[in-house]
Amino acid sequence: MVDTSSTRAAAEIGVIGGSGFYSFLEDVTEITVETPYGAPSDSLFLGEIAGRTVAFLPRHGREHRLPPNRINYRANLWALRSVGVRQVFGPCAVGGLRTEYGPGTLLVPDQLVDRTKSRTQTFFDGEPLPGGGSVPNVVHTTFADPYCPAGRAVAVAAARGRGWEPVDGGTMVVIEGPRFSTRAESLWHAAQGWSVVGMTGHPEAVLARELGLCYTSMSLVTDLDAGAETGDGVSHEEVLRVFGENVGRLREVLFDAVAALPKTEDRDCLCTHVHDGWDLGIELP
Ligand SMILES: [Zn+2]
Repeated sequence: MVDTSSTRAAAEIGVIGGSGFYSFLEDVTEITVETPYGAPSDSLFLGEIAGRTVAFLPRHGREHRLPPNRINYRANLWALRSVGVRQVFGPCAVGGLRTEYGPGTLLVPDQLVDRTKSRTQTFFDGEPLPGGGSVPNVVHTTFADPYCPAGRAVAVAAARGRGWEPVDGGTMVVIEGPRFSTRAESLWHAAQGWSVVGMTGHPEAVLARELGLCYTSMSLVTDLDAGAETGDGVSHEEVLRVFGENVGRLREVLFDAVAALPKTEDRDCLCTHVHDGWDLGIELP
């Protein structure tokens, strides 16, 4: 157990690994971090890539014990920020909503649609911080463009550099889960023109934005969703199999992307200005 005071500024970049992605770096220091919102999904695994300090967090826990609807997203983002993280990559497994986005497609979305039902999606809820006493003000966060434009550009270039042409842009619809969509839901999602469907992209993105973190989703298509395919529908085994087949190159792309991110102090994207003019009422970690 390492307390948070000694881990401050331990890492500048965060990677939140999704289903099938439980480890990232080889030479790591494992630390546990507590937050006012409880414990994150797992320990943070600290390491280094090309001179950049990185914190890896398995989103579902390293043994995949947390379904998407039970992940403590607030604790995860708060924990990352508390060790110094300011830029985050969120790789995740998604279903393709168009036949051309088959298994193995890497999509770097620029929009999301929230269809979740039960998740706390703000730090600014007017409730006193558990244990801390201070009360967050009501803050309405700009979220028109939910992902960091600088992080997106870096992710797209890193994939291209590895010969994996990504889909640059598109809309991720996030469902509550843990069940997959019905055919009717899936056909409806596709008919809206949305690109992929996932279960964890929200509220992860908005909570990152509320903390002034740069957040970039990297969505790996593991299956065609029920409305876009003709078989029996997606299974969890299929998702893990396809993710396993692609996790090696996704890791390589992430290594290159981490190395190419701007320095923390050089960032000037919209994410860094999201709180300009607001009195938050609480001190961010
Ligand atoms: Zn940014």
